Order: sequence, then structure tokens, then C-alpha cells
Amino acid sequence: AKRKGRNIWQWYRPEEGQRLKHSVTLRHEVQTALRENQFEVYYQPLVDSLTGRIRSVEALVRWQHPDRGMVSPGDFIPLAEQTGQIVPLGLWVLKQACQEVADLNTGREQSLRVAVNISSLQFIRDGFLDDVFKILDETGLPPRLLELEVTESVLIEGADHVIGVMEALKHKGIRVALDDFGTGFSSLSYLRDLPTHKVKLDRSFIQKIETDRRIAAIVQGVITMAHHMDMIVVAEGIETLEQQEDLARRHCDLLQGYLFARPMPMAELMALPDILPVE
Ligand code: C2E
Ligand code: CA
Ligand code: CA
Ligand code: CA
Repeated sequence: AKRKGRNIWQWYRPEEGQRLKHSVTLRHEVQTALRENQFEVYYQPLVDSLTGRIRSVEALVRWQHPDRGMVSPGDFIPLAEQTGQIVPLGLWVLKQACQEVADLNTGREQSLRVAVNISSLQFIRDGFLDDVFKILDETGLPPRLLELEVTESVLIEGADHVIGVMEALKHKGIRVALDDFGTGFSSLSYLRDLPTHKVKLDRSFIQKIETDRRIAAIVQGVITMAHHMDMIVVAEGIETLEQQEDLARRHCDLLQGYLFARPMPMAELMALPDILPVE
């Protein structure tokens, strides 16, 4: 190729070309995957910090790729957010999770609540609320058994609109949890303005809780503050008994992590006993 000027060279920068190709491929592949049922929803229990019994589950998407094997969401969710395909994918996960948990609850004494991750892009999109309500209607899952997990970064999209959507969800009986709490840009004080029901302390805090006294102080502060605002606190990524004991001692309400259970397919979840009644 002939050199025709700076812009042309930039245009052909190989890494740019790669990235473009990658996202085009991904767009195509996500479409195919949705059509051919390559996605699956796994469920990870959240347990009561005192009894270790199951209180609810979080839905986590899995991609069983025909050539690449199991692709982790950390590898395709950020790309799907860039291409916008998180919207159809997110709706698929939401519907699938509501359907599977509604089915699980049928004929059982204790109902299970399910939390579904919602990307900021999806959350602020026009028509999101209608989509959620429609899915509840279609699947028959009672609104109080659905929780939506959003990260605090959703606030970048405009706090007023976001709060409006949260209020509408709350009005319908759907709960909102603030995911990855503490990792974002914002201060603790904005919690006051958000109609959220739950905060999830990020795993990065939990990992350091025993070695870093300042981290431990932040964790304790968040728990105390959230309780004063009538919110429930979840600690993510519990891997050791020491972490469980530490957080139970600090009155963290719910725990989630490999110590209790890894994310699992519905068939495995169905076989678990010991589900507590929803509060
Ligand atoms: P997240 O929402 O913070 O989910 C928790 C992640 O931590 C999950 O990773 C889970 O498998 C993992 N985890 C749970 N317990 C432990 C533990 O004890 N130790 C360690 N090391 N990890 C633990 P996963 O399933 O790979 O998902 C990664 C992220 O991808 C999620 O982080 C979430 O941000 C995103 N994601 C997953 N499914 C969906 C989805 O359906 N929609 C959207 N928008 N995002 C999703
Ligand atoms: Ca989550
Ligand atoms: Ca999280
Ligand atoms: Ca996380």
C-alpha cells in the first residue's frame, strides 16, 4: 500500500484493524449464539451469614462456544456492551432466569428470589421498564422475587433518570441492588438518594479485610451505614472460613462465594435443599 498521509496510516494501524474485526466477529457470533442457544444461565447462592442457608441466587451468564469452549462473561460482556449487543443478550438472560426460577418455585413450599445483572446501557434504555414488566407477565415470576443488580457507574448516565427508573421498579415491587459497591467513582453519600434495597461489597474489599485495617474499617462503615438506611449488605467473593466469620461478626447480612457454592446450572441448583423463605 502506498503512503497517502497520516490519516491513511492511522487507518491501517494493525491493532485498530484487529479491534474492528474482533467486534464485527463478536457481533455476528453473539447473534448466532442467541439463535443457537449457546448461552446458559448459571446460578450462585447467596447465603445467610449466620446459618449458611440459601436466601437467594444470582444469575450469571455462561457462553458455551462451539470452538472456544466455555467463554467467561468477563471476556465477552464488556465487548457486548461496546457493540450494544448487551441489550438483546441481557434481555435473554433476564427472561431465562425469570422463567427457570418461576419453574423451580412451582410446587415448592419455599420460593427462591433471583438477582439478574443489568448493564448500565440496558438499564437507562427507553423501554427497559416495559421489557421487565412484560417478562414478569410472561414468566409468571412475582415481582418481589426479582432483583436487578446495577453498578454505581450507572449514575454516569444521569442520576435523575436512573433514580426515576429505580423508583418505578420499586413501585412495582422489584428490588434493586448496587453491585460492586465501593469500586466506582462516587462517594458514599449518594446512597441516600438511591431507592436501592441492597449493597454488594466488592470482592476486592473482602480479599483484604484481614490484612488491611483501613479496608476493614471501610467495610464496617458501609455495613453500619447501610443498616441505618434499612439496606441489606452482601459480601461477594467469600473464599475462606475466616472471611465468613469476620463478616458475620460485622453483621453483614448475606454472603456469596466459592466457600459456599460456585455458580451452577439450574439442574444442580434444583437438587439443593435448605432454601430459606424469602423475607
Ligand atoms: P459480578 O456481577 O460482580 O459477579 C460476581 C462474579 O464473581 C462472578 O463471575 C462469580 O462467578 C464470581 N465469584 C463468585 N464467588 C467468587 C469467589 O468466591 N471467588 C472468586 N474469585 N470469584 C467469585 P462471572 O460469573 O465470571 O461474572 C463476571 C462478571 O460478568 C459479573 O461480575 C458481571 O459484572 C458480569 N456478568 C455476568 N453475567 C452477566 C449478565 O447476565 N449480564 C450482565 N450485564 N453482566 C453479567
Ligand atoms: Ca452481580
Ligand atoms: Ca459484583
Ligand atoms: Ca465484581
